Amino acid sequence: MSVPTVFSAAKRRRLWIFALGFVALIAAGATYWYWSIPRLNVILVTFDTTRADHLGVYGYQHGLTEGFDNFARRGVIFDRAYAPAPVTLPSHATMLTGLYPPEHGLRVNGVGRLDDGIPLLTEILKEHGYDTGAFIAAAVLDSNYGLERGFDTYDDELPTAKSAGHHGEARRDGQDVVDSAVSWLQQRTSRPFFCWIHLYDAHAPYDSRPDAFGQKFENNPYDAGVAWEVQQFERLTTFLQDRKLDENTLVIVAGDHGEGLGDHEEFEHGMLVYDTTLHVPFIFVGSPDCQPGTHVSEVVSLVDLTPTVLDILRIPQPGHVSGRSLLAALQGKSIDSRDCYAETETPFLYSHWSPIYTVISDRWKYIQTTRPELYDLENDPGELTNLAESAGEECQEMRNTLEILKETFVPMAAQNLILTDKDKANLEALGYVSGGNAGNNPRESKDAEILPDVKDMLSFVEKFERARDLGSSGKFEESLALLKEIVHATNEFHAAEALLGDCFGRTGQMDQAVATYRSLLVKRPEFSAVRFKLGKILSGQGQFEQAVAEFRELNKQPPDTATGHFELAEALAKLRKFEEAISEYRRAIQLSPEFVLANMNLGQLLTAIQRPKEAADCFEQAIKYAPGAADAHAYLMIALSQTGSSAKAIEHGKQAVALQPDSFEKRFNLGILFVTQRRYTEGIAELREAQRLSPNDPRPLQQIQQAEAALKQR
Ligand SMILES: [Zn+2]
Repeated sequence: MSVPTVFSAAKRRRLWIFALGFVALIAAGATYWYWSIPRLNVILVTFDTTRADHLGVYGYQHGLTEGFDNFARRGVIFDRAYAPAPVTLPSHATMLTGLYPPEHGLRVNGVGRLDDGIPLLTEILKEHGYDTGAFIAAAVLDSNYGLERGFDTYDDELPTAKSAGHHGEARRDGQDVVDSAVSWLQQRTSRPFFCWIHLYDAHAPYDSRPDAFGQKFENNPYDAGVAWEVQQFERLTTFLQDRKLDENTLVIVAGDHGEGLGDHEEFEHGMLVYDTTLHVPFIFVGSPDCQPGTHVSEVVSLVDLTPTVLDILRIPQPGHVSGRSLLAALQGKSIDSRDCYAETETPFLYSHWSPIYTVISDRWKYIQTTRPELYDLENDPGELTNLAESAGEECQEMRNTLEILKETFVPMAAQNLILTDKDKANLEALGYVSGGNAGNNPRESKDAEILPDVKDMLSFVEKFERARDLGSSGKFEESLALLKEIVHATNEFHAAEALLGDCFGRTGQMDQAVATYRSLLVKRPEFSAVRFKLGKILSGQGQFEQAVAEFRELNKQPPDTATGHFELAEALAKLRKFEEAISEYRRAIQLSPEFVLANMNLGQLLTAIQRPKEAADCFEQAIKYAPGAADAHAYLMIALSQTGSSAKAIEHGKQAVALQPDSFEKRFNLGILFVTQRRYTEGIAELREAQRLSPNDPRPLQQIQQAEAALKQR
């Protein structure tokens, strides 16, 4: 074989031109091919808390799921699909990234935000011309956590606790979620779309829904939630058929995790990794690639979702992913079996119990915890007999498999989270006690110490879950009684102690709340969510010195949070330590420039101590992020008038009035500013409006009379 390696300059140039032309030709062809076939729409429906074995198509006999079962049979059903974690946020993050939890960094609910550098399926589809919309049913998936990236619409608006029905927690009924999604879908006409619909109806606390199902689910209310989810799902598929969208839309349904329902002594999910909470429904329907009626029996994971969707759409993968494309399986071809990874770090985060890591092969499941477990899934699908001792060789082999699998991960930590008080209240209503900071779990202690095994704590976990559900239904006294029982019986259930403190707080027993938090912090000094709440209660009680001490301690621990500095500033301001307060406010704003309240409160403090120029800067910063905040304009008016910028001050005064025309204060202050600027007629007009809004207040009339007198003297 002879390869000409020496060319004259002219020949090299000609070759280049030829090569470039060839590339351009291929590119043109590819583009033509790409745009000439109608691109598939993609809808991902996630059934929260839905066990595969509670759906008819997976063999269940007692549910009402025909609507889903018949739909699933039109496509490909994965019989053995595993969630990467029995926890909502990590599992959804895996679906949308193709990465396992150690790689995307969202290991538990309510802690951390997905790193900006990790590509999401949504972003890739958006780059390829897709319209993107998400419709979310629970606070654990709201836009704080970073999954909103790439969505044009991220509808995570939840009803307030009052209107959320008898549960009193921030969640949205599947009917409303599907209504929102359908109205978004109706507006999609020209471009392909990617739509994610999250249904949360199977999640505890359960509701047997007698209005919809009579007495059918009286003793089995969990199945009522699943049936309700399926009914809403059917409304969606009917819509797709009516619009003839079904021919050109790939519908994927995935459970994010299952539910214990008493198996293995677990009632809900998150603390254990048996199939009850990891084996999830996973189906693909509607792509020409899907061979209808296919059942895939190999072990697969939700980590495969993103690579599979991209492969179906012939879009290249975004660099590193841990999942694999299941396209061949969808086409009815055989695929290799590949070991799947799953974990739960919730036990460690909650209470410093051993985190749990597992690897699942075709036949075996190995669970790494304080006392490891091995199950023969072929002969013991219920995972009832732990073979870790008796099948030592297999156990060692699976332990090695897990280690090797972990070594392939590209680990990534989550970013810090800034939660508003409202977000925190929503999370607490769900019993997620962590509340914000990811970085201060001393991870190394997981390996160094012998930590309690979740298996030994299950009777307490069951009580804890009941207490949490009672609390989220507003039954605080009953919740309190259960939590006291747990804390009395063991001092190793830190999450129960934290929730007990919260519950004392909710029932107005502030001294008990303080004592409970303090005793927990002796054991867990890094438990920043608890220290934060302790500081807030102390502030609320007027114990500002003590509050300052707690917030200072909190701020010593990484990560540095804007809310920690903000609360410290508030307490310092109450103690009239203004300079220190100012520097804490400034630190909060530096960490989080969009922190409007920090800018507002710092601005007011600076105004009060007669530093109006700096105050004006703060209000301007607040307006930058919240242009519709009437108060910010009103305060800016005052600060500017003190610096002598009267014309600009009046502009902001007018904006404040335009934003809140029924505010006495804003009209009154603007009126006075007009008068001091000798713009008497405008001033009198504003003051008359103020008078009309608050007829019993004598001040507007006094000001009007003085202004009229001044007018006469002109
Ligand atoms: Zn979930």
